[in-house]
Amino acid sequence: MNLILLGPPGAGKGTQAKRLAERYGIAQISTGDMLRAEVAAGSPTGREAKAVMESGALVSDDIIIRMLGARLDRADCARGFILDGFPRTVPQAEALDRLLGEKQLRLDAVIELQVDDAALVERIAGRFTCASCGAGYHDRFQPTRTPGVCDVCGGDKFVRRADDNRETVTARLDAYHRQTAPILPHYQAQGRFFSVDGMADIDEVASQIAAVLDALPPP
Ligand code: ADP
Ligand code: ADP
Ligand code: ZN
Repeated sequence: MNLILLGPPGAGKGTQAKRLAERYGIAQISTGDMLRAEVAAGSPTGREAKAVMESGALVSDDIIIRMLGARLDRADCARGFILDGFPRTVPQAEALDRLLGEKQLRLDAVIELQVDDAALVERIAGRFTCASCGAGYHDRFQPTRTPGVCDVCGGDKFVRRADDNRETVTARLDAYHRQTAPILPHYQAQGRFFSVDGMADIDEVASQIAAVLDALPPP
């Protein structure tokens, strides 16, 4: 199963991608997570990407496409993958078409999560993750069951992203509307494109996505 989850920052792509990766035994590929790992490691890519990410703009297509091409070759993609946060520009979408062609792979579905800008600001401002296992939470919408303790691993250290602040959100939403939204027609034209109401609660969005995937015609 090869999937793409599209949607603006804070739409719930990471949250839903984690569930889908578990359900189908496929790799969750988040270019944002990959970039944050490069920044943390202080690699040349990380050094180049850091300031761009903190400003809320998009990292260059060259870097992203190279990174993604290498990632698709890893063993954990054998049963499929779910792309979360890629592609984000028309050149990235075209590069992905080429990469899939070369690897003789095809997309089973492209799913767009639709969420209003006002809700996105609130989601991003309240987002935090477990520092040990990466489980995602939200101050109001998805708190830990016990305050200060990760539901998944019991860890008690949490992190907030440097770019998850109200100032940067505006730049990220702007980048989405100007640079990412134009790829939607690209996928609408290819078929197997579905829009889901991302304003619903997390479990409801998950069941809407499951319903789409369960109803897919055979390849
Ligand atoms: P994205 O990967 O698209 O940026 P996330 O999955 O990280 O988005 O979700 C952003 C924040 O909103 C997280 O704190 C998450 O817990 C919360 N969230 C995700 N989906 C929903 C939802 N359907 N309703 C309310 N909050 C949500
Ligand atoms: P979110 O979905 O919450 O916006 P991501 O973790 O996907 O966050 O991305 C964080 C930042 O990393 C983006 O604002 C951008 O600077 C960079 N980034 C991630 N993926 C891409 C991509 N495919 N192309 C360009 N920049 C990217
Ligand atoms: Zn944890």
